[in-house]
Amino acid sequence: MKIIKKDDLDSFVDYLIGSDPREVVGVKERGSKYAFDKLKSSKELRLDYDVTILPPKKYLLPQRETLLKFKSNDKIKTEPVNEVNGRIIVGVHPYDLIAIEQMDRIFSEEPEDPNYLKKREATVLIGVNMKNTSERCFAGSMKTAFTQDGYDLMLTDLGGKYAVEIGTEKGKELLKKSGVALADAGEEDKKMIEEKKRSLTFESKINFEPSDLPELMKSNYDNDKFWEENADNCYSCGTCNLVCPTCYCFDVKDLMEVTLKEGSRIRQWDGCLLEHFAEVAGGENFREERAQRYRHRYMRKGLYLHNRFEDIACVGCGRCSSQCVPDIADPAEIFNKLKEGKI
Ligand code: SF4
Ligand code: SF4
Repeated sequence: MKIIKKDDLDSFVDYLIGSDPREVVGVKERGSKYAFDKLKSSKELRLDYDVTILPPKKYLLPQRETLLKFKSNDKIKTEPVNEVNGRIIVGVHPYDLIAIEQMDRIFSEEPEDPNYLKKREATVLIGVNMKNTSERCFAGSMKTAFTQDGYDLMLTDLGGKYAVEIGTEKGKELLKKSGVALADAGEEDKKMIEEKKRSLTFESKINFEPSDLPELMKSNYDNDKFWEENADNCYSCGTCNLVCPTCYCFDVKDLMEVTLKEGSRIRQWDGCLLEHFAEVAGGENFREERAQRYRHRYMRKGLYLHNRFEDIACVGCGRCSSQCVPDIADPAEIFNKLKEGKI
């Protein structure tokens, strides 16, 4: 572990922006909120943010991307497309790092997804331990408020200086190449980090261990009254899916040029709360009812992904509940109600 002065951290970020061939993105203010965006200077970087509007998954799984181009003259010819831009992402909170680790497992499953994996390979993740938390965050309850891995470098604000934990060779190289001044962390610094972590008080928002979730969800699959009543005000807008760092569903479409001789295959984000998500050829929709879609989202968070990867697919960032207009998307609230047998 190393220590870097605040001014030197700024110089390090400015060095990356000016000298590294990769794009440098970080958390910037956007009105009263925060968003990951391209950095022009370290002055724009806000490492004290609470939560970003969208998670950094947008760089690994873009909202819309071309997968292949095709020509359809006498014979059909296809050409895969994978636009990979090397990127350094600065200021990723622990729960988002854990969500990226989940995505890595999903997209590495056979058949592997080269469009995700090549972008991931070309990405450097510089994490930061939370200084502030959003009102709806429940990472403390989901055990995702801190992480020991998933980053190349990890920063902790110690007031006037930062602790830098080196997670990978990639991270080590980045520091070395920049020539930035670093000191070895002493016992006092290590103690200060533990104090900083402890000072981040997380009100416990879930009244049980997250590891109990799979069983709880399984036993409530047929609790129709619960799902119907709680989904009653759902607009089926899909916002809770689109802002979630662990949601990765996409739709694939072929788009033809007007000549009808060439076109491209694209994929774009989709969400299981949207009405046509589960519609198949012939017009059959196997989750036609709003309550079925609403239930599916929670089953996926607490049970389905756990069955496949042993992951609880909610990292407690709170984005879904803060952006749901009727305020019915808070997983902590739904999980607690199920546990307490309430409607
Ligand atoms: S739960 Fe909220 S955010 Fe999600 S689809 Fe329904 S209304 Fe939209
Ligand atoms: S379900 Fe909500 S709280 Fe959980 S990870 Fe997704 S957006 Fe964050």
